[in-house]
Amino acid sequence: KKAKSKETNYDIGLMDIEKGVVTRFPPEPSGYLHIGHAKAAMLNQYFAQHYNGTMIVRFDDTNPTKEKQEFQDSILQDLELLGIRGDKITYTSDHFDALYDLAIEMIKRGKAYCDDTTQEQMRAERMDGIASKNRDRSVEENIKIFGEMAQATEVGVKNCLRAKISIDDPNKAMRDPVIYRCNPSAHHRTGEKYKVYPTYDFACPLVDSIEGVTHALRTIEYRDRNPQYWWMLEALGMRKVHVWDFARLNFIKTLLSKRKLTWFVQQGLVWGWDDPRFPTVRGIRRRGMTIEALRQFILAQGPSKNVVNLDWTIIWAGNKKVIDPIAPRHTAIIEKSHVRATITGAPSPAVCEDKPKHKKNPAIGTKKTYFGSTILLDQADARSFSINEEITLMDWGNAIITSIERASPESDVTSLTLRLHLEGDFKKTEKKVTWLATEQSLVPVELVDFDYLITKDKLEEEDDVANFINKETEFREDAIADENVGDVKVDDIIQFERKGYYRCDRAAAEGVKAVFFSIPTGKGEKPT
Ligand code: ATP
Ligand code: MG
Ligand code: MG
Repeated sequence: KKAKSKETNYDIGLMDIEKGVVTRFPPEPSGYLHIGHAKAAMLNQYFAQHYNGTMIVRFDDTNPTKEKQEFQDSILQDLELLGIRGDKITYTSDHFDALYDLAIEMIKRGKAYCDDTTQEQMRAERMDGIASKNRDRSVEENIKIFGEMAQATEVGVKNCLRAKISIDDPNKAMRDPVIYRCNPSAHHRTGEKYKVYPTYDFACPLVDSIEGVTHALRTIEYRDRNPQYWWMLEALGMRKVHVWDFARLNFIKTLLSKRKLTWFVQQGLVWGWDDPRFPTVRGIRRRGMTIEALRQFILAQGPSKNVVNLDWTIIWAGNKKVIDPIAPRHTAIIEKSHVRATITGAPSPAVCEDKPKHKKNPAIGTKKTYFGSTILLDQADARSFSINEEITLMDWGNAIITSIERASPESDVTSLTLRLHLEGDFKKTEKKVTWLATEQSLVPVELVDFDYLITKDKLEEEDDVANFINKETEFREDAIADENVGDVKVDDIIQFERKGYYRCDRAAAEGVKAVFFSIPTGKGEKPT
């Protein structure tokens, strides 16, 4: 309820809204959607709706070397999952002919030139504010060379096309940026048809203008490139587009760059793009994040322009609020050094068929609870007991510890006996412990916890990620769970009482151990 009212409160004061608002989310199909993209997509949708406008989802597919159909498909699926639907889906590649013609027009207006300066030298010249020797090529010469680029001839491939803006503008983004370059790779949509591709700097403003975008929302680090964005439109006499900046989403110890995430995938440091340690939409979902909590979090961040390095605890704490009222409760005992206890005065084995899976939410359904004279306990609990202590067996009643077997007071407890004391008051016991009767089809499970992939809070651009890899990020523990856990399905989120929330990553099956991923709750345990 609270989040709802937050959701409807932003007004970013966009200018010129009378003629309608069209926003766009322009992902490059070069990786899977991450939480930063989710923010950009949600904000674009939010403001389109807020101003009764429309939103375009545009695949910014101008670099065939990095782009793939697989990425394009996954982005659409993930947007769908987030409840984000473009009113239109477009592709920069649909405009390749128009963009080519506009490049020719730019040359004809004397505002672009072909340049075969080596990359290295070009970088140095731009840095020092020195003009390329090719800057004053004639229109005819440029048209001819651009034609060679389009054919990827020997001369063509050595050249790129640069906008003729400035050689020494204090804003380096204005120093004759490259707007077209050759690329022999096959494009996932246009195949071998084109051999030259526009750069993002050229394509983005022009396609925004062509597609009727009125307000381009961009992350704040593009601000230096705004003058360049407008220059392109002005140079070609095209309709201007408003640019509106918002803060990039950053988290500590987290990489939100497709280039770096790709590196992790390629190095085999993760299982894939949906790795539960990854900040991709799929990764955090797999870790146990709900879409609802993700939406609430992003919309609560809102259109702020303050770039901060967020902590994951906030978003996981929000997720806990979503899952706690609906997560069925189950029991698991850690297998290693678990303790077998004998109960005297116990009834013969019995089963209660309809214990609620969630005490405060009967709608979640019921489960079976087995009672019997032999039960399993966690070692940590058993170790804390003393003779004659009265404890509470959760969902059963009180019991008194009558004997404790162990080699020495410091060593593990090997067995216990308890005497049931059901008349005892559970409000008066200090310890309420989880337990499992052995007379049921106990379910072997694996509990998995994760740590950050990198060791540094904030990686700087010049940092080499390879130097900050966390060596141990996966922690597995075997456990034994109650019979009902045999019915838990992949993606179900449950709570193992007194242990935490878990998402089922693999369901139990004949000869197959169920796998549960620990869901952070923002309270001190290892975060994502
Ligand atoms: P990456 O560096 O991860 O590849 P990108 O910006 O190059 O990011 P795109 O697919 O081009 O990836 O981005 C699509 C949109 O998402 C862009 O409008 C971009 O500004 C936005 N975006 C990317 N990362 C973030 C982030 N961390 N926070 C907010 N918005 C982001
Ligand atoms: Mg990009
Ligand atoms: Mg990037």
